[in-house]
Amino acid sequence: MNEWLSQRLEKTKEAGLYRKLRTMNTAPRTKVYIDDQKQIVFSSNNYLGLATEQQLVYAAETILHKFGVGSSGSRLTTGNTEWHEKLEERIASFKKTEASLLFSSGYLANMAVLTALPEKGDVLFSDQFNHASLIDGCRLSKADTIVYRHIDMDDLEEKLNATASSQRRFIVTDGVFSMDGTIAPLDKIMELASSYHAYVIVDDAHATGVLGEKGRGTSEYFHVSPDVVIGTLSKAVGTEGGFVSGSRVLIDFLLNHARTFIFQTSIPPSSCAASYVALEIIEQSGAKRQQLLEKVKQIKTNLIEMGYVVKGDLTPIIPVMMGEAETAVLFSSRLQDKGIFAPAIRPPTVPIGESRIRLTVTADHSSEEIAYLLKVFNLIGKELGLIT
Ligand SMILES: *Cc1c(COP(=O)(O)O)cnc(C)c1O
Repeated sequence: MNEWLSQRLEKTKEAGLYRKLRTMNTAPRTKVYIDDQKQIVFSSNNYLGLATEQQLVYAAETILHKFGVGSSGSRLTTGNTEWHEKLEERIASFKKTEASLLFSSGYLANMAVLTALPEKGDVLFSDQFNHASLIDGCRLSKADTIVYRHIDMDDLEEKLNATASSQRRFIVTDGVFSMDGTIAPLDKIMELASSYHAYVIVDDAHATGVLGEKGRGTSEYFHVSPDVVIGTLSKAVGTEGGFVSGSRVLIDFLLNHARTFIFQTSIPPSSCAASYVALEIIEQSGAKRQQLLEKVKQIKTNLIEMGYVVKGDLTPIIPVMMGEAETAVLFSSRLQDKGIFAPAIRPPTVPIGESRIRLTVTADHSSEEIAYLLKVFNLIGKELGLIT
């Protein structure tokens, strides 16, 4: 087997797509040691800095001592504690829905929704740039999938129009797109859904904690109520786990039919306790959210002034376009030489010719760190002839 796999890995390497791990030797703060080299990280999903917040650590520690390290079973057997239930109620009240259901990850929450809800004969309309976990969910679903152009409402409408005879229709979208930093036009999507009798499924992984006055996500940002809201606790919330929020019937249905819920060991109660505290903080930390978006604005404005092409809306995801994969890879390695960690994103993750440096900002980045980032972008950009 090894020979066969080595040959296949060789092809991966030839295509320039070989991946390997890097070791972080410190907690996920803005400055970390990566492979023993000090770096300022501009690629973390820890948007509000909650992953190292002491209140969360303390909550987890307290419950850890009381409940132990593992949950011992799936939620429907021996793995359900008061902390799982408390967290689900907290998520529902945070997302302003009737109920919510916890999963081990956002990935598995997406799988749950897309494999349990749609039936054969239904059609899923999926944005071209949806996250891999939504794409995998669509592939595993019994429904047919039709891909529409990224946030292109005319294309979506045309495709909805052309499938009037299908049984049931679902529009499936990221709330904030993970590689483009664009915000899905949920207001328009909801209007189309209403005109064409479709249901709306939103994956709010990058919007939870970030968008909307209280950080509730794209629903709050657009003042709409999609049928199914999916989220993760692993980004701005700073912990781990995924969830689905919606009506009580939807949640009861998933509890009974979602295989990634039924056949999965639940996350440990200590982790639930940390998430619970995180949601309290998120609702109260409007100022931090504001600071975060101010930092995004500052970085984007400055990079555009320097002459860079920067994509996306006002979200912590800042794609700086580089064109060819080689340029993006070279740029990223130059950044690393200067002590800045930000990955090059290449095909097949993004279309050919649209390779980019994907920067993310957190509320904890200092003004000195941001000033240094901008200085280094100016320097490398001129060295490589990308800007003048
Ligand atoms: C990160 C991410 C997920 C996966 O969430 P995990 O909890 O890490 O499994 C799902 N959807 C989107 C859009 C994401 O960015």
